[in-house]
Amino acid sequence: MILIHYLCMGIFSGKRFFVYGNGTSGKSAKRAIKKRGGTVTVHYDKDGAFTAPPEREYEFAVISPGIKKDHPVYSYCSSHGIETIGEAELGFMLSDKPIVGVTGTNGKTTVTRLASKMLKCTACGNIGYPITSAIDGKDKVLCCELSSFQLDGAKRITPHVAVITNVAPDHIDYHGSFEAYCRAKCNIAASMTENDYLVLGDDVTVGALSHLDTKARLIRCSADKVVDGAYVYRGNFWFMGERICSLDYLKLKGAHNIKNALCAIAAAILAGADNRDIALALSDTSPEPHRIEYVGTACGKVWIDDSKSTNISSAVAAVECVSGPMCLIVGGRNKGLDFDGLFSAFIERGLHKKIECVIAMGESAKALSESGKKFGVDVVSAKKLSDAVDFAADSTAYTVLLSPACASFDEFNGYEKRGEAFRAAVEAKAGKQ
Ligand code: ADP
Repeated sequence: MILIHYLCMGIFSGKRFFVYGNGTSGKSAKRAIKKRGGTVTVHYDKDGAFTAPPEREYEFAVISPGIKKDHPVYSYCSSHGIETIGEAELGFMLSDKPIVGVTGTNGKTTVTRLASKMLKCTACGNIGYPITSAIDGKDKVLCCELSSFQLDGAKRITPHVAVITNVAPDHIDYHGSFEAYCRAKCNIAASMTENDYLVLGDDVTVGALSHLDTKARLIRCSADKVVDGAYVYRGNFWFMGERICSLDYLKLKGAHNIKNALCAIAAAILAGADNRDIALALSDTSPEPHRIEYVGTACGKVWIDDSKSTNISSAVAAVECVSGPMCLIVGGRNKGLDFDGLFSAFIERGLHKKIECVIAMGESAKALSESGKKFGVDVVSAKKLSDAVDFAADSTAYTVLLSPACASFDEFNGYEKRGEAFRAAVEAKAGKQ
């Protein structure tokens, strides 16, 4: 065993890599390669422009997941015969432990957190802790969140258990089309074998799976019928005919979190978790910040921060589980989505009845207003978040929900900053009362 470990540590000896991107994952990739005997040159954009590494032979280039496929680093690599891989792929290549990989449009972080708690293992990947760091820890298994950027075009993602939570339009500005986005999501299972399992969440549609080509065994999840996998039956969670625990154990609220719990239960059982640890994890997992998070009361209203909601499907899920009459704040930077889908979902599901007013802020306010008009929904436009909060404070709604269905980058440096600004504005209003 020690000898195998020693040989693995020298696996890259004599090999030259260049890492493009000097963020958390780039730094982690560098450490992992050096630890295994390889040499590494790190490069990154300077003043927003590509800088070529010094003329040398490289076997591999490890490229940060945030770098788009049309970035010049890719053409540089192809013209110099350098194979490109992502940091997540490098992690899978080097891992000697089974990995649970979690992707999907929404719920990745929630499912990864739940499953890692059930398995008492480290949560890694897109969640913020690089997989190339996690592989060198003591865990027997790893739980890795994977974004569509990490999966796009990857050839070495080989989870033992994979989860696709759901697939709905998102990141169309990056992938170019919904079809290309679905292809990236399905890529999580492309290299899986007959001994592996692919868990499909309750909302995964047949259409989204048209690019699925896998040898893995399919495991279903359902909140309302008995399926070959994880399901809810008479107030309990079940897996393949065995009762796991009561639904009451689940601390997270909302129908979407029951679906997330089902994905986590299936993945954790398939990776070796027992029922007691599953029940404990369900009861011990609180919502992450900015996900349908209660902020407080001000101006006679309850204020809720769902700043992490950056697509239509997550905004619909939030409206579904928050009580009305509500004032909904949407808007920000559109990621290439058609907002007609937001308003048509409200009407189809009867949610418009509990929405008293919609406020659209920022860059996408105009497009949101136009879509609202088509469905008979009046949308008030606000220049920025603080204006939206002012308008909402004057409304007669009982609840104000920030669930933007858009990215934050027109006004903020990330959804966390947007959520913090929302909280500060609400607290300022509460202080003035
Ligand atoms: P991700 O990591 O995929 O972004 P999160 O668990 O961080 O997922 O949740 C992101 C947003 O999506 C939050 O607004 C949350 O309320 C919403 N959400 C979580 N799970 C689901 C689901 N299964 N269906 C729809 N929306 C969801």
